Amino acid sequence: MSEMNDIINEGEKYLLHAYNRFPIVFDRGEGVWLYDKEGKKYLDFFGGIAVSCLGYGNSTYTSALHEQIDKLTHISNLFYTEPLVGAAKGLCDASGMDRVFFTNSGAEANEGAIKMARKYHYAKGNRDRTEIIAIEHSFHGRTMGAVAVTGNKSYREPFGPLIGEVHFAAYNDLAGVEKYVNEKTCAVIFETLQGEGGIYTADDAFMKGVRKLCDDNDVIMILDEVQCGFGRTGKMFAYQHYGVMPDIVTMAKGIGNGVPVGAFACREHVAALVPGDHGTTYGGNPFVTAAVNAVLKVFDEENILENVRKAGKYMYDKLEWLMARHACITAHRGMGLMQGIELSSAPGPVIKKAHENGLIIISAGGNVIRFLPPLVITETEIDRMAEILDKILD
Ligand SMILES: *Cc1c(COP(=O)(O)O)cnc(C)c1O
Repeated sequence: MSEMNDIINEGEKYLLHAYNRFPIVFDRGEGVWLYDKEGKKYLDFFGGIAVSCLGYGNSTYTSALHEQIDKLTHISNLFYTEPLVGAAKGLCDASGMDRVFFTNSGAEANEGAIKMARKYHYAKGNRDRTEIIAIEHSFHGRTMGAVAVTGNKSYREPFGPLIGEVHFAAYNDLAGVEKYVNEKTCAVIFETLQGEGGIYTADDAFMKGVRKLCDDNDVIMILDEVQCGFGRTGKMFAYQHYGVMPDIVTMAKGIGNGVPVGAFACREHVAALVPGDHGTTYGGNPFVTAAVNAVLKVFDEENILENVRKAGKYMYDKLEWLMARHACITAHRGMGLMQGIELSSAPGPVIKKAHENGLIIISAGGNVIRFLPPLVITETEIDRMAEILDKILD
């Protein structure tokens, strides 16, 4: 125990205390299992917050990264590289969008999307079309622009003034969104499936209704699929379940399987950023885009979407079973391998007990336990997860 404690104590001394970390020091991963410094094994049902979509040590992925490290890891956006162009095409094919800008994180993807929406109207001469409609209990990241559209007051209030003119409507409340649409509206931004907010799914009527509102009023529809995108719900992007296309989609988390990479992708008619408007030194470097290409290759070769649909349904049934057995579970929601159960009290003690029992799960807003396993999870491992939780909830 002492080695882990030493590392934890040193961490508490030198790291900015911006996180309350769990007292585990992870060392390595294999498949859907994680190992701490003492060799204790944990079943992973959080995937580093929906990032490690292929699990750990996928050989196609790791060998692609090794190969790229030996060739070139960085060159800047002043030149082309083959991984960059390949990943841009791959993301367009997967999303149905026309153009891609690579970022280093999800927050930055949302910053870029907001800048592009503002520039779209500015370029048309509509300089006062700056208002943004966002959604309560949303999460879009921690940078100034992203936090300004995040529907959680405690994340925003200490950091003001933020970018202004943001209105918040309730999720799935089409009339609430419509109320804020006027000749100054620039964009609407929301998550197709809310993650941090507590695993809430957009209604069909809301998705289609917002799309129509945006079409009728020349408002940009931005979908944040940083968490729910890239296969997590059983389609490459969650909006593909609805037959609705956004004007801009933002992504990150799963797209690099752990390498820091994000992107925003757009349709041609909103591609308003031109040379001089926006930039990034690292964004889309050959190392991170080689990772994106490798993830897409594994999705294809190993039928990842098929597994998400199958395992997602299995996990859904398993969590329904668990809910039927335990009165403290009051709700169950989600899609694919992004699901949550709501407890009648704060989930902290259950999460702590799960960790002690070798199962990694995390919380989300409103007493929710979130399940975000690697997309390669199998039925046997879902059974194991349910067994551990069943025992703890007793
Ligand atoms: C995680 C997340 C972000 C922020 O991504 P970072 O890479 O942490 O900046 C934005 N939107 C959603 C929906 C997220 O889940």
